[in-house]
Amino acid sequence: MKIQAIRGVKDIMPDEVEKWRWVENKADQVFTRYGFKEIRLPIFEKTKLFSRGIGETTDIVEKEMYTFEDRGGEKVTLRPEGTASVVRAFIEHKMYASQTVHKFYYLGPMFRYERPQAGRFRQFYQIGVEAMGSHNPSIDAEVMTMLMDFFNILGLNQFELQINSLGCDKCRPEYREALKKSITSHLSDLCENCNKRYQKNPLRVLDCKVERDIEIASGLPKITEHICNECKYHFEKVQALLSEAMVPYSINSRLVRGLDYYTHTAFEIISDELGAQNAICGGGRYNTLVEEFEGPSTPCFGFALGLERLIFLVPFDKVEGIENNPDVFVVPLGEEAESRVFNLIHQLRSGGLSVERDYDGGSMKSQMRKANKSASRFALIIGENEIKSGNYQLKNMQDGKQSNITAASCVEEIKTLINKKI
Ligand SMILES: [Zn+2]
Ligand SMILES: [Zn+2]
Repeated sequence: MKIQAIRGVKDIMPDEVEKWRWVENKADQVFTRYGFKEIRLPIFEKTKLFSRGIGETTDIVEKEMYTFEDRGGEKVTLRPEGTASVVRAFIEHKMYASQTVHKFYYLGPMFRYERPQAGRFRQFYQIGVEAMGSHNPSIDAEVMTMLMDFFNILGLNQFELQINSLGCDKCRPEYREALKKSITSHLSDLCENCNKRYQKNPLRVLDCKVERDIEIASGLPKITEHICNECKYHFEKVQALLSEAMVPYSINSRLVRGLDYYTHTAFEIISDELGAQNAICGGGRYNTLVEEFEGPSTPCFGFALGLERLIFLVPFDKVEGIENNPDVFVVPLGEEAESRVFNLIHQLRSGGLSVERDYDGGSMKSQMRKANKSASRFALIIGENEIKSGNYQLKNMQDGKQSNITAASCVEEIKTLINKKI
């Protein structure tokens, strides 16, 4: 019986991991500049956290969660997203007490039981950020600007920032009613899903992906024409700040995001290179969620970004310094050499170099082939003649040049040559 990985999950093999780590490091660099600090959260939580936090009528909660009872009879769920956990931790650790803006970022696997398709996985990875504790529209604009910085550093340029306002507690209910009314006259033309959904959540009709529904949705009332003055002011301010920072954007009045908790600004970053599933990143302001979890009123802004899609878009052929190839490949020839290299390699590694070798004691030719394959910068050749003469051979694998190197001081010499000082 051959056991294979579960459907919809995948292994990230070492060559790929190099790319992932590079992107993750860039995220850390950029997000840190903007004051975000990493938070590490559990990958499973009480089911209630997500059903309440994400919204009972969303696809995620209705159909996609990995929920099970643990041995103690507690209903637990593998996290389908990160925000609910950040909010829980924020309240649990009483972060609100310090009255400042808290900026977190997280990174890790999320789990949703979706139909596996190209680029979609049941265990997938997200990077997300949450800025908690300020109403200021500068936060909205700053986080979106940060994303632009991040994407530019990754070498992406085919993307578009789309924004919308989703109103607030005061103005959205009125808009919902107006929308519902308007939808009623189109019900027979709308898809089954929209027919089921529009009573509880008419905004979801706006982001239905069925082509005919998209057309109908474009004729429905726009939320930006129904929002209150406060919401209007906030939205205009966000736009002014983005323009000031020269961040290009467009307004998409059909952008409502799949989750119930957004207020004011919502945004997505769209890439043409991704086909139908074209959002790389989405987020927005959620001013009431902390209260819904019985924390004090805390306005927040955040986003989540799918790492698989992002990594797919990065032009790695133009990126330097991703591979972690060995500095030196050691080639021992014969028994005497073999007995010397173990400690030599140990000293090189302790000295900060990455060193690889062949363990099979093959011929010079076969070992050099392996050195080549490892893409190491140098090969250190130690045979009988070298031991007799007290000089090892160091071959530069890029230009093929060979030089003598004194056996007694070879560790220091190689370290200096590779210019890594520990
Ligand atoms: Zn409002
Ligand atoms: Zn529909």
